[in-house]
Amino acid sequence: MNSLPPIRHTPAQPTAGVLSGFEGVGRSRRWAPSTLYNGLVPDAYILGIESSCDETAAAVVRSGQELVSNVVYSQFVTHRPYGGVVPELASREHLRAIVPVVRQALDDAGRSYQTIDAIAVTKGPGLAGSLLVGLSYAKALAYAVEKPLIAVNHLEGHIHAVLLEERQKGNRELQFPVLALVVSGGHTHLFLVEGKSGAWRYRDVGHTRDDAAGEAFDKVAKLLELGYPGGPAIDFLARHGNPQAVKFPFAQIKHHDRNPQNRHADDESRVDFSYSGIKTAVLRYVETHDMREAIMRRRQALAALASPVREDYLAACDQATLDLVASFQHAMVNDLVSKTLLAVREQDAATLLVTGGVAANSELRTSFEQRASEEGLAVYFPSRKLSTDNAAMIAAAAYPRFLAGEFAAPELSADAALRLR
Ligand code: ADP
Ligand code: MG
Repeated sequence: MNSLPPIRHTPAQPTAGVLSGFEGVGRSRRWAPSTLYNGLVPDAYILGIESSCDETAAAVVRSGQELVSNVVYSQFVTHRPYGGVVPELASREHLRAIVPVVRQALDDAGRSYQTIDAIAVTKGPGLAGSLLVGLSYAKALAYAVEKPLIAVNHLEGHIHAVLLEERQKGNRELQFPVLALVVSGGHTHLFLVEGKSGAWRYRDVGHTRDDAAGEAFDKVAKLLELGYPGGPAIDFLARHGNPQAVKFPFAQIKHHDRNPQNRHADDESRVDFSYSGIKTAVLRYVETHDMREAIMRRRQALAALASPVREDYLAACDQATLDLVASFQHAMVNDLVSKTLLAVREQDAATLLVTGGVAANSELRTSFEQRASEEGLAVYFPSRKLSTDNAAMIAAAAYPRFLAGEFAAPELSADAALRLR
């Protein structure tokens, strides 16, 4: 058995300010004073565990507002040869990593099993086999050390990554209504967040009809031999190309979803996405512009290097490839930003949260910031390290449930298709 590759550590950061957090009041358009986390509630150290896809992660978060420790073991190295996540390999890697990752998160936090208050774990959505590893481990641990177990929806976790860091910065208020774009390798979702006396409710006001945005980044990078994961690779290379070189049109999707399960009473105000077409458009461009040979040459050049870095990929790209990459990213960003801002207007949202792995994209952040400031909209992102999968967001999302005493039953099971409501 190989030894585990190095684990990413995030040093703990001091928290400033008093013990108060932000919580919404209905859908009224005004600054909502804190009703939750207001200093009267107990401090709680929650151990979060996340294993829904290709990261084995554990973290300790104090009271939803202080990142005490954060350990992420990413499986990039395992999946890189395949250009995408292989579910069986992901489960096996989680099995190898779960115990050392959890121990490391507790050690970094200076906590023991006895000095944490609860264990939070991702219940879904995600890969069934991957989810089961984290969930079974968390259940067994909770039982053995007699701590309450809290089940968390992975998508709600991504939303709480933003809230955790805003609270940590001392930002305790949030203007409602809030719209959240969760955009990653597995999800592209728009949720309207409705805050009702502490418990948040989520309304799905748009999602992808086919591929997630991160999946399009990964598949285009694979087609062009640009490395894995594709998102960060394209983010870097796009800075060297002309984003106007190739036009990729996207359709507005307003027609009803063919799947009856996905139909909603308020379909008229939905804003959906579709990212399978752009992959085919990039493939067609490659074929009609005779780029196959350049791709083969790049593949051979990079295969000759032991561990190529992003500058090696840049050196192996001709200008036509860099222009294509920049244009692809520009089109993706433009579509994500325009459709999200359309939903902001349709839902009359005052605050926008953008989160998930693709929220790490530089052009996406700049574009959202520019367009949101033009429209007088507050927009928040997690830091790049909390944009991609992590367990701090799971521990943060668990805190309101800890306060409400919403603990999981012993028969808790994983739900690969869990919805956020
Ligand atoms: P999951 O693994 O569940 O899909 P993550 O939140 O870990 O969720 O997101 C990983 C996805 O984010 C991958 O598709 C990856 O390519 C994409 N991604 C990461 N960084 C960037 C970036 N800078 N630009 C665009 N996409 C990115
Ligand atoms: Mg991931």
